[in-house]
Amino acid sequence: MPSSKTRIAIIGGGVAGLVVARHTAAKLDTYSLTLFEQTDGVGGTWVYTNETEVDRHGLPVHSSMYKNLRTNLPREIMQIPDFPMKQDEGPSFVHHSVIRQYLRDYAKHFNLYPHIKLNTLIKHVEPETLRNGQTVWMVTYEDLESKVETTKTFDAVVLCNGHHTVGHIPRIPGIESFPGGSIHSHQYRVPEVYARKKVCILGASWSGIDVTMEVSQYAEKIYLSHNLPKLVEAKMPKNVEQRPGIQSIQGNTFVFNDGSTAEVDDFIYCTGYNFTYPFMSTKVEMRTDDNHVEPIYKHLIHIDYPNLFLMGLPRLVIPFPMFHVQAQYILGVLEGRVKLPSPEQMREEYETEKEALLNQGIPLRHIIKLKERQWAYYDEIAAAANTSSFPPVIRKIYEYSNRMRQLDFTTYKNYQYRIIDDESFVVCYCKPC
Ligand SMILES: Cc1cc2nc3c(=O)[nH]c(=O)nc-3n(C[C@H](O)[C@H](O)[C@H](O)COP(=O)(O)OP(=O)(O)OC[C@H]3O[C@@H](n4cnc5c(N)ncnc54)[C@H](O)[C@@H]3O)c2cc1C
Repeated sequence: MPSSKTRIAIIGGGVAGLVVARHTAAKLDTYSLTLFEQTDGVGGTWVYTNETEVDRHGLPVHSSMYKNLRTNLPREIMQIPDFPMKQDEGPSFVHHSVIRQYLRDYAKHFNLYPHIKLNTLIKHVEPETLRNGQTVWMVTYEDLESKVETTKTFDAVVLCNGHHTVGHIPRIPGIESFPGGSIHSHQYRVPEVYARKKVCILGASWSGIDVTMEVSQYAEKIYLSHNLPKLVEAKMPKNVEQRPGIQSIQGNTFVFNDGSTAEVDDFIYCTGYNFTYPFMSTKVEMRTDDNHVEPIYKHLIHIDYPNLFLMGLPRLVIPFPMFHVQAQYILGVLEGRVKLPSPEQMREEYETEKEALLNQGIPLRHIIKLKERQWAYYDEIAAAANTSSFPPVIRKIYEYSNRMRQLDFTTYKNYQYRIIDDESFVVCYCKPC
């Protein structure tokens, strides 16, 4: 007897997959769900490993955590709204192990483990159109322990496979002549290996600055190469020098865009990540060029397949709470409570919005960086899903902590935030230990 429940496949057991599972598992009269996770635990990128290349199954290591990483958001706003983190003493920017434990606790608290298949790799996702015109999904997965491959049919698929594993490596003329070590921040784990070295770090976004701060404690010299506005020099460790982007490399000599040169022993790319969906059928249009995924409606729904969802696309957001709202929006779509326009209308709306952003001078690859646009996005999808958006205090803390980071990126993680009510918070400085 075919089940009358909507069968949902969730691909990936990081925070995005867990949050979708939590909301689906709350409605087991309506849904049957399976969350597929290729590793042996939940938590996704928050599961630190010393390994940098392949895991015990021979698959590329998923996590990009480095050993000393502390969050770049205060836990008071990073947490999932219906599962507050413990308010321990000390700074609000906690070590990655705290987040890993929090996500395990979340999975346990909402009784998600019965729905999770660990050590299970999704290998292929294929749409199949039934005689009634409905599309279902044939999902092929491998049990990595027994090596048994299975294909099952699902009514909806939610892609939560993460976007911080495949490093973006820009092409630099002459890089092949560089005899030193070069890694992407995905492979970066500890700073000690750079003791007494001259290191070039390319990129000054979140990871670039974080890695620079760590490595500068050991390296002889760091050239932080980037094309962003210059960071406040006074706050830089003495052995860090900012340079513009790299023009070319000749052996150990790096030539920068202003014509200056530097002798370099080691090179770290902090140049961001690429979106990849290696298991997706070629029948499904999925363009990922220029770090932008198309054709997707509301950063979430595949325009040709309103039962195929992509979690975690927006950047410069508050990811965990955003997933909490996105998950409820997805269920609203599946239950018909959120009415979607026709595919043609969705495409038109999407193209119009994209055009408007391009016309404002925002390059395609930056469209998903929502930044100031994130608040309207949360409000919009929360309203459509008939759930609450975030109280104003979340935005206030986000903006305050961002300002603190701009003022001094060496100390902004030493603050402790406490939410007083929906509008107000207090903040105090904790002496670094
Ligand atoms: C270095 C670093 C620091 C960060 N710091 C912060 C921070 O301070 N605060 C913050 O909010 N965010 C931070 N982020 C962003 C972070 O990525 C998101 O917060 C969030 O963890 C993303 O969750 P996710 O579930 O989308 O992806 P992931 O956590 O990457 O999880 C994806 C899961 O999918 C699984 N998977 C992938 N492919 C398959 C497959 N084919 N079959 C089965 N399973 C599969 C993976 O094994 C993994 O478990 C940081 C990211 C990085 C890389």
